[in-house]
Amino acid sequence: MDADLEDLFNEVATSKTFRVTKPLADGPRKKFAITSAPRVEAPARLFDDFEMSRQERVDTLKEAVPDALYISDEALRAIQDHISWGERTRENQFEQGGIIIGEQAEDRGKAVSVVTCAISALETQGSQTYVKFDHLTWKRMLDQFDQMVATGQLNRNQKIIGWYHTHPNMSVFMSGTDMGTQRSLFYNPWNYALVLNPQQQFCGCFKGKDADIAPLVMFERARAR
Ligand SMILES: [Zn+2]
Repeated sequence: MDADLEDLFNEVATSKTFRVTKPLADGPRKKFAITSAPRVEAPARLFDDFEMSRQERVDTLKEAVPDALYISDEALRAIQDHISWGERTRENQFEQGGIIIGEQAEDRGKAVSVVTCAISALETQGSQTYVKFDHLTWKRMLDQFDQMVATGQLNRNQKIIGWYHTHPNMSVFMSGTDMGTQRSLFYNPWNYALVLNPQQQFCGCFKGKDADIAPLVMFERARAR
């Protein structure tokens, strides 16, 4: 049998041995106050050019990399396209970002989060070409997510796993403001933040309310068969 992550997802959705957390009820709340907190620094060049570990077959949660965030090549490409990865554009000189969406499963203390798509924050408001991660920006993204669920573009198992944003021409870390966002919206152990420097092509992955540095694993989604 051709088992791969796609099968894992199917299993996650149907199997009784995996517990799938509720799709929306646990999601980020829409009312929140963002406060600042001490920043977390990632080692420079945590992931060079996204040539990170690849794991093409994961049949059970037991085989998953502990605490890793799994991201599909499609979702990663969507993010890279959005932030002009490896290029210098007018837009990517400013902070850009969005939310990452996928599924989450856990079994006997072992959990895995799997990102399958991303929604980018709206950037073009008049002459403004960068994201201000203010309440309105968050509300728009969360509303868009709700709408995608309501219209069936996303299935009910899909939830907001976390967020991504860029640090143009800067090292990759979770600033005080980033930590405030993380603690207000993405405080669950299965929530992640990706911070990316598109010009120098490196990225950090942070997990949970304390933004612990976590492995990022890219996988290829199974082709239709
Ligand atoms: Zn930041």
